[in-house]
Amino acid sequence: METTTAEHIIWQEADLIRNEFPILKQTVNGRPLVYLDNGATTQKPVSVIRSMQEYYTTYNSNVHRGVHTLSQQATAAYEAARHQVAAFIGAHHHEVVFTKGTTDAINLVANGFRKDILKEGDEVIISAMEHHSNIVPWQLACEEKNAKVKVVPINEKGELDMDKFRSMLNSRVKIVAITWVSNTMGTVNPVKEIISLAHEQGIPVLLDAAQAAAHIPIRVHELDVDFLALSGHKLFGPTGIGILYGKESWLDKLPPYQGGGDMIKHVTFEKTTYNEPPLKFEAGTPAICEAIGLGAAVAWASKLGIHRINAYEHQLTEYAINALRGIPGLRFIGEAKHRSGAISFLVGDTHPSDVGVLLDQQGIAVRTGHHCTQPLCDLFGIPGTVRASLAVYNNTEDIDRLVEGVQKAVTLLG
Ligand code: PLP
Repeated sequence: METTTAEHIIWQEADLIRNEFPILKQTVNGRPLVYLDNGATTQKPVSVIRSMQEYYTTYNSNVHRGVHTLSQQATAAYEAARHQVAAFIGAHHHEVVFTKGTTDAINLVANGFRKDILKEGDEVIISAMEHHSNIVPWQLACEEKNAKVKVVPINEKGELDMDKFRSMLNSRVKIVAITWVSNTMGTVNPVKEIISLAHEQGIPVLLDAAQAAAHIPIRVHELDVDFLALSGHKLFGPTGIGILYGKESWLDKLPPYQGGGDMIKHVTFEKTTYNEPPLKFEAGTPAICEAIGLGAAVAWASKLGIHRINAYEHQLTEYAINALRGIPGLRFIGEAKHRSGAISFLVGDTHPSDVGVLLDQQGIAVRTGHHCTQPLCDLFGIPGTVRASLAVYNNTEDIDRLVEGVQKAVTLLG
């Protein structure tokens, strides 16, 4: 593939980048591994693995409470990770709450809205392409308060109906909670426009950035977004850690999510006062090693440059779509104009899971099923899809192996 601009220099570095991921060097079922399930979770570079090993081998200790050296080292590393993540998304460090992941972050906000903000008759706007983790927390909150979840529809290409969105904004809407990138179709939503339209009516916006973080530069202050959630494991970091970004005014306003150590200022049996955000939302011993791993992951991604990753993946996605298009009977689910590298498809009458199993036998990892977007699959009238999702360490050889593998699977199933 031809590349000319400095933006695309990653094409020349691709082998070096791939080399940093030990897991990719293995064979699976007798073939070199092709890992195309990055939407589910990404692989980890050596620097992330080392940072976590170093923590456990040299300074494992609890944070925030100890006067001894190891505890101070662990606290410093944990808080340094918060600064690294804040820099990565263009936030202040005190606006970054460590959570278990995107799901946990959205639940934190939905719980706060359920408790203190939503009233009977209020509305929460989500979209038809949401992951279950940006549907169910709002349903739970709305059910309890007799409020309503309203859904922005999509067109047949998998793009939001922005006219409809505009018409849905009114004084009953208390929050717009929407995904930046669809995990099933790869659609990249016009988040800037969504935020400014909502703000015109004084409505806050939560962005689910689970599928954006490893692929699109995030600047929360420039976006003026109120909340943003992401998962470390989809961003070259470990599982069990993610963040909620919240504007300072919102983090002050929201009630604590859970009670326990670290989130308090002072406790008596009669009355407890809470710590300042972000610690107000971090009850109990946090995932210290995982936070440190996430810090190393964003450092790794920042060094490479997310805008360069984005440019590289854009070309690789185009290459993949063109190559897959050549397979007779293949149809894409989601063909948005603005898209990322999550590519969903079906071939003829074959069942996605049958294709997935046959790809696995050839050492190719993809995801099959509804991808936690059952309502979206219902809209398309399908049980699920085969989804190949790209990351920066993938290359054209991976795509060629995928195409060859799908062709073989379809022949066997036919
Ligand atoms: N939102 C989107 C768009 C996702 O793709 C996912 C995971 O696939 C999630 C939320 C949930 O992320 P996690 O399971 O890491 O909390």
